[in-house]
Amino acid sequence: MRQSQLFTKTRREAPKDEVAKNAQLLIRAGFIHKEMAGAYSYLPLGLRVLNNVQRIIREEMNKIGGQELALTALQSPAVWKKSGRWDDEAIDVWFKTQLKGGGELGLGTTHEEPLTALMAEYVSSYKDLPRYVYQFQTKFRNELRAKSGIMRTREFIMKDLYSFSRSEDEFREFYEDCAEAYLAIFKRAGIGDYTFRTFASGGSFSKFSDEFQALSDAGEDTIYLHRGKRIAVNREVYTDGVLAELGISKGELEEVKAIEVGNIFPLGTRFSEALGLTFKDETGAEKPVIMGSYGIGPGRLMGTIVEILADDKGIVWPSEVSPFPVHLIAIAGSNKDVRAEADRLYDLLKENGIEALYDDRDIRAGEKFADADLIGISTRLVVSEKTLAEGGVEVSSRSEGQTAIVPDSTIIQHLKR
Ligand code: ATP
Ligand code: MG
Repeated sequence: MRQSQLFTKTRREAPKDEVAKNAQLLIRAGFIHKEMAGAYSYLPLGLRVLNNVQRIIREEMNKIGGQELALTALQSPAVWKKSGRWDDEAIDVWFKTQLKGGGELGLGTTHEEPLTALMAEYVSSYKDLPRYVYQFQTKFRNELRAKSGIMRTREFIMKDLYSFSRSEDEFREFYEDCAEAYLAIFKRAGIGDYTFRTFASGGSFSKFSDEFQALSDAGEDTIYLHRGKRIAVNREVYTDGVLAELGISKGELEEVKAIEVGNIFPLGTRFSEALGLTFKDETGAEKPVIMGSYGIGPGRLMGTIVEILADDKGIVWPSEVSPFPVHLIAIAGSNKDVRAEADRLYDLLKENGIEALYDDRDIRAGEKFADADLIGISTRLVVSEKTLAEGGVEVSSRSEGQTAIVPDSTIIQHLKR
């Protein structure tokens, strides 16, 4: 894409009321637009990143047997009354609305109830299980605090997967597969080194659940971390008893701020019993299905990447989530040869399936570099009088900064590697 055609522009200032670093940078660089507190629109560059994050998650969920669907945001009270969660006491972030003809609807905050009811129409025998079902779906939550930019919004996409198993063992096996898949996702998203599987309480269904916590001072959570053993526990389970079970003690742990980028949760038979999701086992006995839920917020993950990896010049995207793999920058001035060479390179990249954001604008070099630093595309190619004279194009990485001159003839090979 030619940058001269991109409708968004970078800005020097973020809105005055915006306190979160992720939102300040993403707004200044033209990735998102703030509609109101807790609600952001995704602009072309931002949508590309969000789609990349979702692609990574989708690939990893498909690998462990996930089947994708899309449930409605509109929720009928009936199904939620069966589990007792229509009540504002049970879920305190509901957005609810009156229907004109009478009656009420809610906007889904999560989807255990409708999916369990739906599965009950398809599952009847042990042969129908296990099943793993997920979606990327817009959730609505009337969050009290919305000061963390895109990391806590009132409307957000969630990847929510639900597992339906016949036995505790079958459930556990998938639960561990999903935990591995989550670590793979956070690694591909560039925050693997910062993200820890963290013991959390499992509510009434199970002793533990797991959160995936990314270390950052912008985090709203506090966790206790054993760096050497890569064991972390959250506040709820930071007790001598639990720590002893994990073979660690308080003195060995660091108290750190972290962002919950995902979590996985045993549900037991709470929802299957409430909504009548049962199956006949090999002996013909009727049993409730054992469930688990597995969430990741792609928007929160995108915000977390910005919080953790940005430097004093702007955003730094890891290659798999970068809005474009390449930022091609022409420093041409009035030099027609440089312009022609940059145009030629842009076409060559396109022919080879490498999408570039091409800064073809007629502005000063300093401005182009400042914008490129702010936008944060992972690999930069510069064509200028100097690089022409040296017989190639200058390649650099946004995260490492070091540059190399690569001859035109091998640039495609170089980038593909
Ligand atoms: P938190 O404790 O931070 O409110 P949660 O326990 O409510 O999170 P879940 O209901 O388990 O979170 O949602 C699954 C995932 O969805 C979270 O791990 C997070 O990545 C994301 N998420 C939750 N709430 C929001 C929100 N308001 N805005 C953006 N992403 C969110
Ligand atoms: Mg919450």
